[in-house]
Amino acid sequence: MKQTILTKFIATILTLSALIAPVFAANKIESVRIWPSPDSTRVVFDLSDKPEYSYFFLSNPDRLVIDLRHTNRSIKLTSVKAKGDLLKRLRYSSPEYKNSTRVVLDLNKSLQAGIFALPPVGQYGNRLVVDLKDAQASISAKPPESISANPLRDLIIAVDAGHGGEDPGSIGPSGLYEKVVTFQIAQKVKDYIDNTPGMRAVLTREGDYYVHVNKRSEIARQKKADLLISIHADAFTSPQPRGGSVWILSMRRANTEIGRWIEQTEQQAELLGGAGRIIQDKKSEKYLAHALLEMSMDHSISSSYLLSEKMVEAMSKVTRMHKSTPQAASLGVLKSPDIPSLLVETGFMSNPSEERLLSQHEHQTKLAKAITKAIDSYFTDYPIAGTWHASQQKSQQHVVKRGESLSRIAKRYSTSVAALKSNNQLTSDLLKVGQVLKIP
Ligand SMILES: [Zn+2]
Repeated sequence: MKQTILTKFIATILTLSALIAPVFAANKIESVRIWPSPDSTRVVFDLSDKPEYSYFFLSNPDRLVIDLRHTNRSIKLTSVKAKGDLLKRLRYSSPEYKNSTRVVLDLNKSLQAGIFALPPVGQYGNRLVVDLKDAQASISAKPPESISANPLRDLIIAVDAGHGGEDPGSIGPSGLYEKVVTFQIAQKVKDYIDNTPGMRAVLTREGDYYVHVNKRSEIARQKKADLLISIHADAFTSPQPRGGSVWILSMRRANTEIGRWIEQTEQQAELLGGAGRIIQDKKSEKYLAHALLEMSMDHSISSSYLLSEKMVEAMSKVTRMHKSTPQAASLGVLKSPDIPSLLVETGFMSNPSEERLLSQHEHQTKLAKAITKAIDSYFTDYPIAGTWHASQQKSQQHVVKRGESLSRIAKRYSTSVAALKSNNQLTSDLLKVGQVLKIP
């Protein structure tokens, strides 16, 4: 478009006033939202403009002081109700600089804080986010080593309710939040898993608060989970699409993730257990770390895939499926290289009739039962040594089922195709449904 002299002139004035403006223009705190979780509390200041801020801690009593430049006192802070165990109250104090506002967070103990600004996105405008963390609590919250007399350990299933807190996920046409649906279903899945022999569930979030995607797999790892299952509900721009789907990590993304993990040497020990500690001693042996991580990743992806097939089958009995085969994607929560992970889209929030279904107790129960059944069936077919499911295996014989190959059977019993063939005097790789194989 051609610029006239006049529009150029106006543009110049606007540029000039933008340069001068910050001195006079006042930012405003429009609201404060508080999201407590068991070991941290997020305080979000909604602002009319991008914040310019600085902060420091004071003790006796413990408090966090935040200075917001060019900001007016626009809301009554003392009437904002503090939630959670970490934050006592919010108030203003005399600012150090002209035209600025000093906000004080009175704390219940000495805490750490992550403070950062977020630009406008979706329903939210400019924000200043304060993540208060109890450093002592997260150290002591590590689970103690189990000293159970029972030599058979429970499988630990991390159940992840998608979204939460300030992140509502998708919003249905009648206003239902995905974060509410995912949490209700996750709680039901937990109940069913806890009532299944040999399995125990842990939730990655236990209430309506925000958990970063990276933190979700971290929690699963900390709880020594054998599997991470993330529960979501889909949305689309038009109301037609409906049905569930099951997602696993794509191999391409997996390779990128391996590279990233290799760079983070300190995380290798955690990922690889004993082997990781050896590698840490010899930093030059990066290729060894790479090979080990690849093996671990390969294992978790193949496990995820086998489970995802069962998940699709179980879910299709209780709900319409949008995709009849497992899908591969690079979704955030699926990127853990060491824990088999699965993301279940339970249906479409954007489809009015499915939104209604997803809110119903009976439908949620059906979905939760199907999800649990698929997990139980997977660990019955592919048991982990030392678990109750492994102890239930009857004999070292295998009856060939539809769709099974020698390599799949070999993987299941941790043996090789060659060993299977020689043990059963097989001359070709072809199997018949119903054929009985001796497992070496
Ligand atoms: Zn979601």
